[in-house]
This record gives sequence, C-alpha cells and structure tokens, in this order.
Amino acid sequence: MCDLAGAPLGTRMILLTSSGTGAMEAAVINAVGPEDRVFIIVGGTFGRRFCEICEDNGISYDSICLEPGRSLSPEQIESLELDNYRALLVNAHETSTGVLYDLQRLGEACRKTGTLFIVDAISCFLCDQIDMAGMGIDIFLTSSQKALALAPGLSIVLLGPRVIEVVKEKRVRSHYFAFSRYLTDAARGQTPFTPAVSVILQLHERLNSIKEFGASELTRTCASLASHFRSSIQDIPFRVFPDCPSNALTALTPTNGLSAYEIFSKLKTAYGLVVTPNGGKLKNKIFRVGHMGNLAISDLNTLTDALREISK
Ligand SMILES: *Cc1c(COP(=O)(O)O)cnc(C)c1O
Repeated sequence: MCDLAGAPLGTRMILLTSSGTGAMEAAVINAVGPEDRVFIIVGGTFGRRFCEICEDNGISYDSICLEPGRSLSPEQIESLELDNYRALLVNAHETSTGVLYDLQRLGEACRKTGTLFIVDAISCFLCDQIDMAGMGIDIFLTSSQKALALAPGLSIVLLGPRVIEVVKEKRVRSHYFAFSRYLTDAARGQTPFTPAVSVILQLHERLNSIKEFGASELTRTCASLASHFRSSIQDIPFRVFPDCPSNALTALTPTNGLSAYEIFSKLKTAYGLVVTPNGGKLKNKIFRVGHMGNLAISDLNTLTDALREISK
C-alpha cells in the first residue's frame, strides 16, 4: 500500500473500520486540537465536510471557497499565508465537481511554513498521480470503495514520519479513533479493535493483482478512458465542467440549456445507463461520468451515443 502512494520511509499505516468520512474526522482530531487553527480548501461537498468536522470537534478554521469546478491557480496558492495554521486540509479530488487540485504546489506552500499537509485522496487514489513523499503529504487518506473497487467499510490512513510524532503526543477526545492505540498495537501485529477482516482480505488480493498489472498502468488506463471520453463529447452540446479535471470522473454541463438532472433521468429510464446526478445548486447544471473501475472504452461510447441522441 505504501509504495502505491509513494510514501516516504518511516510511514505507518492504520486501517480503520469506517467509511472515508471516518478517516477524514480521525485524521483531523489526531493531528490538530482545539488549540490549533487549520486552513481548508473548499470546492464543494467534500471540502465543506472538512469544515463541518472541524466545527463538530471545536477546531477553528479559515477557508478559501472556490467557485464550483474551479481549481486553485498557482498565484492563489502562492498567496495563501499558511504561517499561522497547524494544518492544511484538502480533498485532492473534489468529487462533487470533478476538480483536481495542484498538490505539488500546495505541498510546497506547506513546507515553507511547516504546516501539516493532510490530503483526502479517497477518490483520486489509483486514478491520478499521487506521490506522498514527492508532494510532502503528511497524512494520506483513502478508502476501500472507490478505485480500489472493494466492499465499503475500510479506510486506509498513511501517516508520514513528521506527523507520527505529533499523533503519539496528542490527547485525542475519541476512544475508538485515537491513532496512538493503533500504532502501539500494530507494533505487535495487532489492532486495538476488531478489524474489517473480510475487506482486508479483499484488499490483500486486490493489492497483489495491482502489483501484477502495475499501479501506473492502472492510472494510465483511467487517464486514457477520461481523455477518450472528453474528446468524444466535443461535437455534442456538453462541456467539461471543471477547469482541471481528475481522471476519476468527468463532470459535464449541457451547453444547450437542457437540465442536467433531466438528462440523468432520461439516460436511466430510456437507455438503462446510470451516471451520477448532482444535488443542490448544481442539480440542473452538471452530472458526473465515472472512469474508475471495470469500464471499457465501448461503455463510454455507448454513453456518448445516448447523449448525442438525447441532445438532438
Ligand atoms: C467518497 C469520498 C469520501 C468518503 O465518503 P464516505 O461515504 O464516508 O466513504 C470522502 N472524500 C471524498 C473526496 C470522496 O470522494
């Protein structure tokens, strides 16, 4: 697992029996406390989730709220003043709009000020290039049900060497999610609580097959599906919504005034094709097409043909 994430020497892994949000909350409460202030990049639902986690745990934060689908420009990253923040929290890929942030530059900004870099890589792991050591990531999160394509219920937390010291000292107001317990027990090959054994066995098998196939090959396949799909929609009235899209999915917005939600419904009822609709303010504006997992170019072509017919 560590090699797939490009983890630096001395990284420790914790397996949590929870969905990804549990790992987000655990990472926050183990690395920072009410005495700290954190900075959050908010580009949609998952960025806001980090804010809510901080509010619920009494951790003060500031945030930058981006227009949906917009990434952070190098200038915006340059002008983030992180001096007074203990940690920067970011969802590498903001899954609600499909936007991917520049982790390399964000990591550099964190290094300049000694700010901990906490990255929710849940939906970009194995889809986009991510390199914990090269990007200076201190905590890396992913979970079983995205590109790992396993049953839900298991989250994987990688703690870099710098944050391990922080975590060991921290008094955490949670019994189940206190990382120090997991680190202590792991030293003798144990977990403090019953682990999700069935999903861990699936993970073991999956990692073996990824190793055989090659992780970078997997990422390349995902990237080529994404770029195939994006070029195949160029002659139909849709536009890729985010300015810097992840390979994991493509968020599309209709350019001929049709409602994105109605397109989702029509695809489902008339064609038996399921894309992911959005809610809230983006409900009529975008829907999302996934590129991870067991998909072939022909599946995407079928979808493009249906979209062409619907938009006539
Ligand atoms: C899926 C996802 C999560 C985790 O959601 P759960 O339903 O709790 O597993 C967290 N962050 C991002 C960016 C995600 O895509």
